Amino acid sequence: MTTRTTMPRILLAVCAVVAAALMMFGPADVAHAQGKGKGGGGKQGGAPAPGPAATRTPNPAWANAEVHTLKVQGNVYMIVGPGGNTTVQIGDSGALVVDTQYEEVSDKIVAEIRKLTNKPIRYVVNTSADMDHTDGNAKISRAGAPVIGGNLGAVAFDNGATIVAHENVLRAMSEAAEGKADTNADKLPTTTFFQGQKEIFFNEEPVIIMFEPAAHTNGDSMVFLRRSDVIATGDIFNMNSYPVIEVEKGGNIQGVIKALNVVLDITIPKHEQEGGTYVIPGHGRLTDEHDVLEYRDMVTIVRDRVQNLIKQGKTLAQVKEAKPTFEYDGRWAAASGPGSTDGFVEAVFKSLSAKK
Ligand SMILES: [Zn+2]
Repeated sequence: MTTRTTMPRILLAVCAVVAAALMMFGPADVAHAQGKGKGGGGKQGGAPAPGPAATRTPNPAWANAEVHTLKVQGNVYMIVGPGGNTTVQIGDSGALVVDTQYEEVSDKIVAEIRKLTNKPIRYVVNTSADMDHTDGNAKISRAGAPVIGGNLGAVAFDNGATIVAHENVLRAMSEAAEGKADTNADKLPTTTFFQGQKEIFFNEEPVIIMFEPAAHTNGDSMVFLRRSDVIATGDIFNMNSYPVIEVEKGGNIQGVIKALNVVLDITIPKHEQEGGTYVIPGHGRLTDEHDVLEYRDMVTIVRDRVQNLIKQGKTLAQVKEAKPTFEYDGRWAAASGPGSTDGFVEAVFKSLSAKK
């Protein structure tokens, strides 16, 4: 074995070069030069790197949560777990994953994908910057590999699957990480887009990532898998509660209704039965056009009622008192938080009162 004897020699040689460099430039310059040599200090090549240690405390409820897979149709599956629904499209070229839930369940999600295909995960797409849709980005991306020479342009080797999202998702995630020990660097999108939609042809299927401005946030996308005839909406459409509209993050009721109408334009039901185009909501069970139609109507009626109350000069407290959601609360009100009656009415009120 020669490696044992040659390795120290190489190390010695490296040390000598570094020592020489130190004498020539001083330590700061050397550190800078080393950073450059690694490709700008970004993700590392070679075997999957362990990545920065997660600094937030793991949530046992998420870690212990069950994860299961449902076949939707065509090439598409839905993985249900503690976070927002994950959509997986598979084929000869590998897997495309929409939304990654929480890091605590990343291993379980990768295991579910492995049951569907032994091909690499090539793309991760995020429907928004929300943690319950992006927290698993690093682990799930690292379990895969990018498409080299794909139609999203050049990507560096060995970076894991390409993470695709609207530019505003990258901005929101970067801002959220500012000043924190956990910079989320490995969770950030690696390919972003600005304009209306991003198209990828993958597994013999057009994948259309549609930006919906000012809806649930300022960075929402829906993902339409055109040949399989399935659309993943992210949190624009939520079967567990009223839409969660984060007005302070650029969300707006008008954008939610507009996006729901886009879904209704795309979906075609099977004649007088369930099926046709399937719709995977951000949260909750698998749905079709009929469910989206009812939801759109409910949301629109509440919007119109709040609009009328605002025209009458009512304050937020008075609008809440008027109960503009009353006949829907039994089905749609979440117990508390943004999808609750108060949270929803407040978001609608703020959306409509905001200065244009
Ligand atoms: Zn969500």
